[in-house]
Amino acid sequence: MARNKYDIDETLQSEFNIKHLKRLGSYIRPHRKDMILTICLMLVSSALGMLTPRILMTIIDDYIPSKNIRSIVLISLGLLLIYLTNFVILRIKITTTATLGQSIIHEIRTDIFTHLQELPFSYYDDRPHGKIQVRVVNYVNSLSDLLSNGIVNTITDLCSLFFIVGFMLSINVKLTFVCLIGIPLLMLLIFVIKRKQRVAWQILSNKSSNLNAYIAESINGIRVTQSFVREQENIKIFNHLSGSYSSAWMRAVCYNFMLWPAIDNISTWTTCAVYVLGIDWLSGNKFGVTTGALIALSGYISQFWAPINTLASFYNSLLTAMSYLERIFETIDEPVLVKDRPGAVAMPPIKGDVQFKDVCFSYEDGIPVLNHVSFHTKPGETFAIVGPTGAGKSTIISLISRFYNLNSGEILIDGIDINSVTIKSLRKQMGVMLQDSFIFSGTIMDNIRYGNRTASKEDVIQAAKTVCAHDFIMNLENGYDTEVNERGSRLSAGERQLISFARALLADPKILILDEATSSIDTETEILLQKGLAKLLAGRTSFIIAHRLSTIKNADCILYVDNGEIKEMGTHTTLMQTPGYYHSLYMSQYDFLS
Ligand code: ADP
Repeated sequence: MARNKYDIDETLQSEFNIKHLKRLGSYIRPHRKDMILTICLMLVSSALGMLTPRILMTIIDDYIPSKNIRSIVLISLGLLLIYLTNFVILRIKITTTATLGQSIIHEIRTDIFTHLQELPFSYYDDRPHGKIQVRVVNYVNSLSDLLSNGIVNTITDLCSLFFIVGFMLSINVKLTFVCLIGIPLLMLLIFVIKRKQRVAWQILSNKSSNLNAYIAESINGIRVTQSFVREQENIKIFNHLSGSYSSAWMRAVCYNFMLWPAIDNISTWTTCAVYVLGIDWLSGNKFGVTTGALIALSGYISQFWAPINTLASFYNSLLTAMSYLERIFETIDEPVLVKDRPGAVAMPPIKGDVQFKDVCFSYEDGIPVLNHVSFHTKPGETFAIVGPTGAGKSTIISLISRFYNLNSGEILIDGIDINSVTIKSLRKQMGVMLQDSFIFSGTIMDNIRYGNRTASKEDVIQAAKTVCAHDFIMNLENGYDTEVNERGSRLSAGERQLISFARALLADPKILILDEATSSIDTETEILLQKGLAKLLAGRTSFIIAHRLSTIKNADCILYVDNGEIKEMGTHTTLMQTPGYYHSLYMSQYDFLS
């Protein structure tokens, strides 16, 4: 899928892909015993139901004329038993199919979510999150109907149809054929509209995806929207997307609406034809038609069209489900571009020697972001990366954790190519604090512990103290047990940074990566933080991106990056000796402050 926005439709798949159905079958297979049992019960139920018109025929044609009251009473009791049995079977069916459908949906959803956990940053960079969400929630949910009732009903109804036709043929062959005349007509209609109908459901799934993407984006950006008083524009965009969704929905159901009235009409006309011809043949005593046979046949005719109706609605839900299945399996099949190489080994305990060797990288083909970047840090050194916005600083540090694959060049840690080790073993030994200090819903304690589930309460508190977060946490109503919302909306930006700082430290990383970790922290706290950090950074290699140059003056090496290239490299003192990029950057901050 190309880089996508909420108003860009995803590509439509051209063919009805039977592979998707086969794949759905692999989810159903483990539950086949329950499904077969339910189908058998349903077949018993429909066979019993089908006996009724035949029994009525015998009562009308034989027992009533011969006034055989005993047989009539016995048969009535039998009919009552049939109704009771059917009632029990229906109850069992409802419970089993609902459980079945939900279990299968749960498995599909787990697969898609598990795969999403593995997909690299580039996957998330490339599409609105609302579009991903709609696949996991809405699309999977919409399979519910198909999986719970659809499959069982369809198989049962198909079998019932054969039974019904069999009973009808046993009553009167000619009248049965009159009734069946409608079927080729219906097939013709389905053949004519099937492609349009499928495309209509695909378009609907795209529109729903767009709408969800926009809603998710609007909720995430609500603060900016309200600050810039953009509510009306947003409502306009929403109305447009919602309108497109409604029109797509109308178009899709329009085809359904063509099908059902068609079935209704065909069934009415064929029933009429059976009655007219039947009564004519009855009065003329032709083709062995009796009153009972005609009444029994009319009973079967109504039973005959009911499963056809269910089959048509199954066909519709199948088309809908296909458009969703395409998206679901597309996500599950999305290649994990950043993954362990075959034969990758666990990264040995890291000492902290990091080397970039002629690294070139681009997010998108043809747009280079890093050009031949090379540098080398010794264990325990602090490397600061500075440069203008968009220079490639964050990109450099995200490559150390292998969040993306390189175009060319190598990154070595302790002399080992990071591509040759398992990603988990590499990332476990790194503490990364990205620009976006994400806070998860839960307590402050849970949030700090995120990087190290086994850390004790004391370790958490120690980490918080080191990054000067302890005091503000203790001022919250429940201290470390205070619940925070997703994204930490009740915390200030600086407080969020301190928490994610503590989280990164608690993981006891050998390499610490801090991207703008202190940008929202006040200078006073930052000075305190520096002192705590100095102790903590001892013995660890660290990469720090900071705009406030005061924070990085003491770094062992400062890289000045611009346009994806390292322009200057050295300590603060050496870089300040000659006028250059760093010198002028430092001076401009100095001028600004003075
Ligand atoms: P810095 O951290 O120096 O501000 P970045 O490393 O974030 O810069 O970005 C370097 C360049 O890469 C910028 O031109 C930016 O637009 C581009 N870029 C960053 N992230 C992505 C991405 N996920 N997809 C495409 N381009 C990106």
